[in-house]
Amino acid sequence: MATAVSKHSGASLKIVEDATCTFCGCVCDDITLKVDGDKIVEAKKACVLGKAWFLNHETEDRPSCLIDGQPSPLDAGYDRAADILCNASYPIIYGLSDSPCEAQRVAVSIGDWIGGNVDTTTSVCHGPSGMAFQSVGEVTCTLGEVANRGDLIMFWGSNPAESHPRHFTKYSLMPKGLFTPNGRKDRTCVVVDVRKTKSAKAADLFFQIKPRSDFEALWTLRALAAGVELDAEQVERETGVPLERWQDLMDRMKAARFGVIFFGMGVTMTRGKHCNSEAMLALTRDMNDYTRFVVKPNRGHGNVTGADNVVSWRTGYPFGVNHARGYPRFNPGEYTTADVLARGEADAALIIAADPMSNFSQPARNHLATIPYIALDPKETPTTRGAAVAFTVATYGINTGGTVYRMDDVPLPLRPAFEVPHPSDERVLLEIERRVKQRKGVRA
Ligand code: SF4
Repeated sequence: MATAVSKHSGASLKIVEDATCTFCGCVCDDITLKVDGDKIVEAKKACVLGKAWFLNHETEDRPSCLIDGQPSPLDAGYDRAADILCNASYPIIYGLSDSPCEAQRVAVSIGDWIGGNVDTTTSVCHGPSGMAFQSVGEVTCTLGEVANRGDLIMFWGSNPAESHPRHFTKYSLMPKGLFTPNGRKDRTCVVVDVRKTKSAKAADLFFQIKPRSDFEALWTLRALAAGVELDAEQVERETGVPLERWQDLMDRMKAARFGVIFFGMGVTMTRGKHCNSEAMLALTRDMNDYTRFVVKPNRGHGNVTGADNVVSWRTGYPFGVNHARGYPRFNPGEYTTADVLARGEADAALIIAADPMSNFSQPARNHLATIPYIALDPKETPTTRGAAVAFTVATYGINTGGTVYRMDDVPLPLRPAFEVPHPSDERVLLEIERRVKQRKGVRA
């Protein structure tokens, strides 16, 4: 970490080189921060979203621990949290995608000690992709390979121009790579979506498919890859795009030297979500009979990919894991948090860096409001407001270090800008875990 302290306009400024932005799944690790005390005054190379993330960051002026809404010592909060989790018969742990891997690892351990569920926000975004990886497999690569090799770049149900503003410039379209020396000129960009997004305007070819027809469109391409003759009228009726355009796309896909498909929640959270995700991965696998082709989900949260990795290497499954029998069981729908809460099953919760009170269904929110739960968040949210124990924690990447995984499963270090009086997620979870083990009679 290159950190320099310099005098500038009479003020003491710290420069943090190669800081990592955790606002989106690109986790750009080339940001230069200028820090004045506890304020970031400049974030060079960050996009508009990254600048807002760094420059608008303010340290929360509120207690690090609230029990039933009252300021309390941290130790009392850790004790109460451990009591809640140990006294429950169906405790659940949820969130984790905006927390570093070191904290995620401890959260999974707590889930194991208490025989509870461990679930992440993947269950409400790319869960179907995680399941498709298991059933079909993933032909994958790093974003560095995309930058150096990708000559046909497809975005399907994903709008990085708005959600991941540096995706095009840093990884997928503009970079001048080893085998793409002319950058954008060496690449063809294809966007498939149900509406003309900002990303579609950057595309060489745009396919506006009928809403909820991703499955049909993907299987049209699979059929064309295999040389199956299709009924032109039916293809256009079902996908909204003429057969000859799909055929032209397939010809280009076969002729590409290194094809890449990035797909988003427009595929995983629309009609046929699991089937769409499987079809996407299967199409990519098919293409490898002709050329090199890879597929990547465009992930949103800064460390949601880390959550998938950590939960997978701790339990064998990426999300929606239950430990009630003393060993991990995976069953999305049964053990995913939104479903467990909506059915009124959980009787305690530990929520880390997530706000289910703002975005879960009404039945799930209603039930969460009736059970004791612990919330960790750098900000006050509807979820922290209703928590039995609410910890105000340091913001990862700005106030604490650790490791995050970029959307291509590459781990990256965090380089914090300044410290705050609040504890990190990892510290809070380690203290809770220590007390849980004491209550369970586990030797330290
Ligand atoms: S693209 Fe994402 S990670 Fe990169 S600077 Fe913008 S918000 Fe941050």
